[in-house]
Amino acid sequence: MDQEKIGKFIAACRKEKGLTQAVLAEKLGITNRAVSKWENGRCMPDISIIPELCELLGISVSELFKGERIASEKFEESSNELLLEMRKLEENSNKKLLSFEKVLIFLSIPVYVLFIISGALIMSVMMPLGIILLASGFATVIICAVVGLKIEHDAGYYECPDCGERYVPEMKAVVMAPHIGTSRKMKCPSCGKKGYHKKVMVK
Ligand SMILES: [Zn+2]
Repeated sequence: MDQEKIGKFIAACRKEKGLTQAVLAEKLGITNRAVSKWENGRCMPDISIIPELCELLGISVSELFKGERIASEKFEESSNELLLEMRKLEENSNKKLLSFEKVLIFLSIPVYVLFIISGALIMSVMMPLGIILLASGFATVIICAVVGLKIEHDAGYYECPDCGERYVPEMKAVVMAPHIGTSRKMKCPSCGKKGYHKKVMVK
């Protein structure tokens, strides 16, 4: 995938349609900066926006990924390539989400430890402040746990080791499940067996 080529192609198609970066951005509900970043080849459009972008530019998703117009006889070949590219893109964005979760949890530890220790120390001198600090500490733990779980639920799929089914579980199942790293003990929706289901990035 050649981001620079794709960027130039987006810019060319946009101009062909007589759209400014600002107008295109507005139609997609994003910032001008994002459009200019794609066009400079610095990043790819978010996967969720790609179908609408292609429609506005009057190109197919395959053409977007190739960074050029595709003659119709080559279409099948390029749509297979496209599927692979889409998988890669999904994989990358899910990996990013999961590393964000790790950073979030890592950074939150000193914050709530600090709240709880200072709360406990101040408790004997200034009771109300101590309580506020302790409560803030616990709130930090809870908020980070909820956000972390939500990210883990949304990023990618879980794979059943018995039947190989890849699925997105209910949020409740993720919250209740014991885990080792990102593998969680859950019931497979396809074969019904319970076991440790591994997190996978793509379907
Ligand atoms: Zn299964």
